[in-house]
Amino acid sequence: MVKKAILFDLDNTLYEYEPAHKKALRKVYRVLNKAINISSKKFMRLYNLSRLEIHQELSGTASSHNRTLYFQRLVEKTHNTVESKLILKLSDAYWNTFLKNMKLKKGVLSTLKELKRTGFKIVIISDLTTKIQLKKLLVLKINDYIDFLATSEEAGSEKPHSIMFLLALNKIKCLPNESVMVGDNKKADISGANALGIDTILISKQKGNFKKELEDYSKPNYLIKEIPELLKIIKDLQKK
Ligand SMILES: [Mg+2]
Repeated sequence: MVKKAILFDLDNTLYEYEPAHKKALRKVYRVLNKAINISSKKFMRLYNLSRLEIHQELSGTASSHNRTLYFQRLVEKTHNTVESKLILKLSDAYWNTFLKNMKLKKGVLSTLKELKRTGFKIVIISDLTTKIQLKKLLVLKINDYIDFLATSEEAGSEKPHSIMFLLALNKIKCLPNESVMVGDNKKADISGANALGIDTILISKQKGNFKKELEDYSKPNYLIKEIPELLKIIKDLQKK
């Protein structure tokens, strides 16, 4: 089947999430410490607890990743009330630092350029709120190579729910077997796409030993270490 579209996960697939997140969280700690003098150990404990609570309460929705909700909950624990100025300050500190520290993974830009040049439609399919993902596309300077963005905020459910993939496919008017999904998360990206019959590529530094795994939807069709490797896979798929 001729492939017409590539669906990409964004976070930790096209750029490294952890370094930006860690720097952003450190900045949040410094801002909070200035306000109320709190140890970093206590900060991390309260942050993790707040994040866990919001995750549980809003599981499966884009809001479960909303940092403003995490910091609101954290400040409720430290102040036992709403401190609007402080909550917004922490949220802004987080995202400003995060966006400043994002870096595309090796070969991402040239791969996107090559895919565009050869006529592929490119969709970002991501479990977060639209506004922040739009900012990421701009800061990473990849907006010009992306045809559409589909977020869980827009779809109402997160990956691996089929609605995420169907929303993306509808935007580009492609069938599942005309597209390829590329992501770093076996459950969200790979099993969600496999369930619809979309070919899947997992990006992972770990060695894949899929023989041990069950032949279920979380098994990717292909495993790559770096994004440019997908060009050859897609070329081979065109011949099938
Ligand atoms: Mg990801």
